[in-house]
Amino acid sequence: MATLLQGKQLTGKIKATLEADIKEFAQRTGSAPVLASIEVGDNKGVGIYTSMQKKAAEGLGIEYRLKHFTGSTTEKELIGQVKQLNSDDSVNGIIVQLPCPAHIDDRKISQGIRVDKDVEGIHPENLGKLLLGQARFIPCTAAAVMELINATGIDLSGKNAVIVGRSEIVGKPLIFLLLEKSPTVTICHSGTSKAGKLEEFVRSADILVAAIGRPALIKGSWIKEGAIVIDVGINQVGDTLIGDIEFSTAMTRASFITPVPGGVGPLTVFMLMRNLINAAKLQKGISG
Ligand code: NDP
Repeated sequence: MATLLQGKQLTGKIKATLEADIKEFAQRTGSAPVLASIEVGDNKGVGIYTSMQKKAAEGLGIEYRLKHFTGSTTEKELIGQVKQLNSDDSVNGIIVQLPCPAHIDDRKISQGIRVDKDVEGIHPENLGKLLLGQARFIPCTAAAVMELINATGIDLSGKNAVIVGRSEIVGKPLIFLLLEKSPTVTICHSGTSKAGKLEEFVRSADILVAAIGRPALIKGSWIKEGAIVIDVGINQVGDTLIGDIEFSTAMTRASFITPVPGGVGPLTVFMLMRNLINAAKLQKGISG
């Protein structure tokens, strides 16, 4: 039976470090770090994320400035807002809550964020640094996945790591983060499934990360005995949330497994706050 990897259990130590950093920052600069959040329209899921971020930020002593725009706001207006926040010295980090309504090009808005305020780590320059092993801001969900894998204490060198899902915020950054630990990394996507090869790759995984968004697509019986299994997926099925991996059977085969909810999710928001405090220190020339 697998050991549960619960994000919440790791947040205590991370929170304590962040609180100390924020306190020191406030003492040295005379102000708390500020996170500006741009929300467009009334997406229910986005609303849940922003309230979680606000709660976490304020609990740590970070000022959370939510800028809410109606669903009919134009791309030009949003670009103007990002520019204004870029030049506002009181703002240390900017996050655009995705998805924006369909008439807005999400990428155009996110990539307009000043590189040293890009606390989601999705600006091309920050992604380039990640590729070079010099990451300044690691995309938050990918960072949370690595925290959980590191918490197992298992040496990944020479093992097979399989990621399912190649999004820019999860799967792709994980390729480079995992490679730094020297496993053999394979990334699967819809093309792998179409070719009928997903099961074969999953069966080979000593470390499996699923970030797909398809409820229980990965069957528990495919999990290699003793594998580390990280389920990023959050899928609403009726009244419950489930992951991308069939949990009950996977639990009997894995050595470590994340539950959904309660695995990756609780850590993600603290990774965002960690990026924010790093951004604030960078802007003020504070090292360490
Ligand atoms: P995206 O929709 O951006 O990407 C999904 C990926 O899954 C794509 O690469 C897609 O392949 C792949 N995929 C889809 N269907 C299949 C299939 N049948 N077989 C193999 N691969 C498939 O999703 P995100 O990365 O944004 O999110 C993934 C999941 O993680 C979602 O459930 C989301 O809610 C959750 N999430 C959780 C977070 C947390 O904090 N816990 C944070 C962010 C996301 P292709 O590229 O070929 O289309």
